[in-house]
Amino acid sequence: MTELPTRFGPYGGRYVPETVIGALDELEDAFSEHSEDPTFQAELEGLLGAYVGRPTPLYLAKRLGERYGIERLYFKREDLCHTGAHKINNALGQVLLARRMEKRRVIAETGAGQHGVATATAAALLGMECCVYMGRLDMERQRLNVVRMRMLGAEVRAVDSGTSTLKDATSEAIRDWVTNVRDTHYVIGSAVGPAPYPEVVARFQSVIGSEAREQMLAEEGRLPGSVVACVGGGSNAIGIFRGFMDDADVELVGVEAAGHGLATGEHGAPLAAGSPGVLHGSLSYLLQDSEGQVAEPHSISAGLDYPGVGPEHSYLRDSGRVRYTNATDAEALEAFKVCSETEGIIPALETSHALAAIGREGARLAGPVLVCMSGRGDKDVDQAGAAMGLDV
Ligand SMILES: *Cc1c(COP(=O)(O)O)cnc(C)c1O
Repeated sequence: MTELPTRFGPYGGRYVPETVIGALDELEDAFSEHSEDPTFQAELEGLLGAYVGRPTPLYLAKRLGERYGIERLYFKREDLCHTGAHKINNALGQVLLARRMEKRRVIAETGAGQHGVATATAAALLGMECCVYMGRLDMERQRLNVVRMRMLGAEVRAVDSGTSTLKDATSEAIRDWVTNVRDTHYVIGSAVGPAPYPEVVARFQSVIGSEAREQMLAEEGRLPGSVVACVGGGSNAIGIFRGFMDDADVELVGVEAAGHGLATGEHGAPLAAGSPGVLHGSLSYLLQDSEGQVAEPHSISAGLDYPGVGPEHSYLRDSGRVRYTNATDAEALEAFKVCSETEGIIPALETSHALAAIGREGARLAGPVLVCMSGRGDKDVDQAGAAMGLDV
């Protein structure tokens, strides 16, 4: 069995109560064992194919490329995955693993509801009980996803503590897990949390990068000059980056949410404007005040509205292997509009941040440019439509 990394440089670790360590060890052992088991691999690959719709296409976006002054701009189409984003790759992997671990119940935290929907979907498929924690405020903002989860047979539990948003839902999910760890697996939705979660999530998402690498070689006969992805917790980014990590000539670019602008303090860009600290069980860059209290993030996109980031990204920032930049709410909205109009593809607001950075840098980016189209924008039409002044 291969050992999973506990830290990425100084980042990561297990800053959790002792009562959870046993469960983390159990997850680490189970992942090491089953991820190398051909039966598990075949079952996961089968479902990723027939159920999720993999491999997702590599698409040459000619009109958007032209608009941005980029000769060859490729989309890796995670927006075409079942449930509309890359999150299902990880949710399905973890729920399959939970079944192998003989758990009968899975729990998850969710902000906008996308990870909750992905987990509820995988739980329905595999016949597991599912409970999703969600801040009450987020439930009001994302009613459609609450209904979807309930239709899928999941219980959605409202969280009223703190600010009634994602970080409070996460704390509540951890509390449930500590109490019910014998029969319950906690499905974390991004490449965050205590070890081994960041590595487990990265491995389940690395299918994006391995497919994209092969597809680029088949299509272009060469690797991309740059690979760009938005960074919330960092799972779609690490998933695509892993396909190119050892190719020193490929520039990797992560795009954080600059919200109203870094100078306003209202953003979701811990790698640009945060400092190392502990949140949700691991050490990583974090938005915090001088006393170490977690600061309130802001982004127009719920998936990037998070004060922390996965530990591997903190390491890649410091090592310089990945260049991190950011895009504001306004820039993301503009990219959302331009992509919809030039390509007939309505991108998620999260993904729009990556597109905005590509638009800003244009021909300065080494081509061909490959962007992770992390999800589709159906979930965002009300919000983006209102911001664009459309009659919705
Ligand atoms: C959740 C989400 C993200 C942000 O999460 P990462 O873990 O950083 O990938 C990005 N895009 C979409 C479409 C999402 O749903």
